[in-house]
Amino acid sequence: MNRTSPLDLIGVDALHNEEELAIRAVVRQVVDEKVRPHVADWFERGVVPARVLAADFGKLGLLGMHLTGYGCAGSSAVAYGVACMELEAGDSGVRSLVSVQGSLAMYAIWRFGSEEQKEQWLPRMATGELIGCFGLTEPDHGSDPANMRTRARRDGAEWVLDGGKMWITNAPVADLAVVWARTDDGIRGFIVPMDIPGVTTREVTHKLSLRASSTGEIVFDGVRLPADAVLPEVTGLRGPLSCLTEARFGIVWGALGAARDCLHTAIGYACSREQFGKPIAAFQLTQAKLADLAVELQKGYLLALHLGRCADAGRLTPEMVSVGKLNNVREALAIARQCRTILGANGISGEYPVLRHANNLESVLTYEGTSEIHQLVLGQKLTGFSAFS
Ligand SMILES: Cc1cc2nc3c(=O)[nH]c(=O)nc-3n(C[C@H](O)[C@H](O)[C@H](O)COP(=O)(O)OP(=O)(O)OC[C@H]3O[C@@H](n4cnc5c(N)ncnc54)[C@H](O)[C@@H]3O)c2cc1C
Repeated sequence: MNRTSPLDLIGVDALHNEEELAIRAVVRQVVDEKVRPHVADWFERGVVPARVLAADFGKLGLLGMHLTGYGCAGSSAVAYGVACMELEAGDSGVRSLVSVQGSLAMYAIWRFGSEEQKEQWLPRMATGELIGCFGLTEPDHGSDPANMRTRARRDGAEWVLDGGKMWITNAPVADLAVVWARTDDGIRGFIVPMDIPGVTTREVTHKLSLRASSTGEIVFDGVRLPADAVLPEVTGLRGPLSCLTEARFGIVWGALGAARDCLHTAIGYACSREQFGKPIAAFQLTQAKLADLAVELQKGYLLALHLGRCADAGRLTPEMVSVGKLNNVREALAIARQCRTILGANGISGEYPVLRHANNLESVLTYEGTSEIHQLVLGQKLTGFSAFS
C-alpha cells in the first residue's frame, strides 16, 4: 500500500534550502539515536540526562545556534526552527532544554550583556559545558511578571538579591541563572551562579507533563552579587519579554514536531491494527480524522515557515509570534489528543509516544505565555484596547 508522509502532501521540502534540509537530517538522526530509544523511560522516571544531552547538542552547534559570535553557530531563524521541530518530535522536554539554554539564558546575555559577560559565559554555554536557566515566573506571579516580588538592592558596590522563582526549567541542573528582579530603577536582569551562598533549588516533583525535563524552584536569601552581575543594556520588562519572543519562536516550530510524531505514529498504527476484519485505517471515520489532522499540520507548518522567513528578513514582531504560538501549540495539542483516540487503549501506554506528547503539550500551552495571554496580545493589536487588567 502506498503511503504519503503528512508533510509531503503539499511538498514542504521544496520551500527549504539545502542548509535547512541538512540541519533537519542531522538533528533528526541525533534525536533518533540519543533521545527516542530512551525518552519513554526518562519520562516514566521523571529524569533527563541534561548534561549528557547538552554536551551532545553543544557538539552539533544546537545551543544558541541562531546567535552569532562567542562560539555560537549563527544559523538562520528557519534553520533554528527546523532544529526545534526535530528535537520536539523526540520530546518537548528535550526541546525545552535547548530553548531555555539558547533562546532564554544565552540570548539574554548575548542581547543585553556586557562584552565581558558575553566572553565569560557564552562560549561555555554554547558547548554545553555550562547549563543556564531563566528565572522570571514566581509562585504568585506568572502571567503578570510586572508585579514580581524578587528584589535586588544596592549595598555599596554589591547587589543583594532576595526572593524566589518557580517553575524554572533546568534550574536543578543549572550552573547559572538569568534572574529578573525588581530594583529601584525598574526590573533588571542578573547573572547568578547557582553555587554561591544564599541560592537554593528544589526540584518540582509530581509533574504529569514535561517529565523528561528538570523543573525547579529557586530561592534567593540575601545573595550577594558583584556590581557587574547586572545585565547593563536593559531596564524594564522589555528585557525578559524580548527573550520570551525568541523562545516562543522555537515553540512555534517545536510543537509541530510533537504533532508530526503523533500523526506519524497514528497512521502507522491505523494501517496495521485490524478490527472488524480490516485495518482501522480503511474506515472512513479514521481517514476523516487523519485527513483533518494532516491539514492542520500543513497549515501550522506554513505559518511557522512564514514567521521564520520574516525573522530572517528582520520583520518578525512579537504579535506575529503570538499568532504562531497560539495556533501551533493549540493545534498540536488537538492533533495529539485525536491521534490518541486512534490508538485506542494503546494510546494511553508509554510504549507509544502519543499521550506523552499530549501531556507535554499541556505545559507548552501554558509556558512562554498562556493561550489566553496570546489571545489578549492579539485582541489588543486588533482592537486597540488592552484587556490584561
Ligand atoms: C513545565 C514548565 C516549565 C516552565 N519553565 C519556566 C522557566 O524556565 N522560566 C520561567 O520564568 N517560567 C517558567 N514556567 C512558568 C510559566 O511561564 C508560567 O506557568 C506561565 O507564565 C503561567 O503562569 P502561572 O502558571 O502562574 O499561571 P497564572 O498566571 O496564574 O494563570 C492561570 C490562568 O489564568 C489565566 N489568566 C491569567 N491572567 C489572565 C488575564 N489577564 N486574562 C485572562 N486570563 C488570565 C491564564 O491564562 C491561565 O489560564 C514554566 C512552566 C511550566 C509548567
